[in-house]
Amino acid sequence: MTPPASTPTLRDASCADDYDPNSMPVDKARALITRFLTPLTSTERVPVRSALGRVLAEDVISPINVPAHDNSAMDGYAVRFADLKSAVDVSLTVVGSSFAGKPYVGKMQADEAVRIMTGAVMPPEADTIVMQEHAQVENGHVTIGIGHRKNQNLRRAGEDLAIGQIALKRGLPLRPAEIGLISSIGIGEVTVFRKLRVAFFSTGDELVSIGSIPGEGQIFDSNRYTIHGMLTRLNCEVIDMGVVRDDPALIEAAFATAAANADVVITSGGVSVGEADFVRDMLNKLGEVLFWKIAMKPGRPLAYGKIGGAHFFGLPGNPVSVMVTFYQFVRDALLVLAGQNPVPPLPTFKVSCSSALKKAPGRTEFQRGILSQDAAGAWSVRVTGEQGSGILRSMSEANCFIILPTDQGNVAAGALVEVQVMEGVV
Ligand code: AMP
Ligand code: MG
Repeated sequence: MTPPASTPTLRDASCADDYDPNSMPVDKARALITRFLTPLTSTERVPVRSALGRVLAEDVISPINVPAHDNSAMDGYAVRFADLKSAVDVSLTVVGSSFAGKPYVGKMQADEAVRIMTGAVMPPEADTIVMQEHAQVENGHVTIGIGHRKNQNLRRAGEDLAIGQIALKRGLPLRPAEIGLISSIGIGEVTVFRKLRVAFFSTGDELVSIGSIPGEGQIFDSNRYTIHGMLTRLNCEVIDMGVVRDDPALIEAAFATAAANADVVITSGGVSVGEADFVRDMLNKLGEVLFWKIAMKPGRPLAYGKIGGAHFFGLPGNPVSVMVTFYQFVRDALLVLAGQNPVPPLPTFKVSCSSALKKAPGRTEFQRGILSQDAAGAWSVRVTGEQGSGILRSMSEANCFIILPTDQGNVAAGALVEVQVMEGVV
């Protein structure tokens, strides 16, 4: 996923010939959303340790050579290749040592060697390292046999990274490896994009928050807590706006506040048939929003658009649908908006499915699966139990999505299926 060159209008997009809001393929919806994503531009300076999970807003240029000096890749002896013979052993005088952090300070002469440890600076007169296993020391002399190559077992100054070279590129999310790499070149502060601000609320008269007692027919709101978790994992700045009743005036006010304070607004519930009507009218007044029935299961209804300057994702109400639509549409979009570039698709791979799967052609399904290894070390996947879109336990038990393509019918036990691992993502 890469940000678009220019931003078209939602109306242009919805006028395309093959646009069908009542049966929108997953890929098509993703591609359409991608066209409207303009990444953040504001940045801030943060200490390198606090930059974990943030996105680099400028290239990191190396101020030094890495390694800084020619140094030894082995424990052994630094020698001048010219002193070695091609046919007979030679004996060299050991005149000193070079340790990591404590170089040899003398000047090596002909027929001399310096004891050297891994990572220690090469004496400038030496050009070759003979590993200690290929050398015999006795009485301050080292005997070296034949068959050595000039410059062997050396690490050259700047061979990993030269002064002025780009160490890390703008757009890269920083993981522990990058934090270490930045530190390795002596940089203590980096410029990152500011965090993406995401406001979210749940809609529904039936919902109560934790701490209240549900009345007749009421349920605890879980989506807001799931969404809070998913956004926090993505390093967003979260604005939790609570539960909003199914009341047009309250919902309109909530949308206006959310859009004024955030880069992205996410709601759950209220986009299904019957409920969508007043939300649609209102959003068309406040901004430009498309309502889709995505050809996927779970997670059919989805709304996407702009309210003022903010992006809007209207997720379905069912708790599993919320998570699936978030990971299949919202996650990548948030990463693009947060400045990450490129945003590679999450990896998938094929694995044997040990259970038979029920599937009707016509929609892409994201069943919840458990990948496990048998005694011989082979991996296979099985489905978590019931796949109802209200059963959040299926997400908790799962460690992968089993992705069944649109045209796929029932899957026989033992067939190969595509899986997307949740570890590190969900
Ligand atoms: P809706 O899309 O608003 O018609 O909701 C679909 C289903 O999801 C209904 O059974 C709702 O009760 C349920 N639901 C909606 N919002 C939430 C929420 N925040 N937490 C838990 N369940 C919800
Ligand atoms: Mg509702």
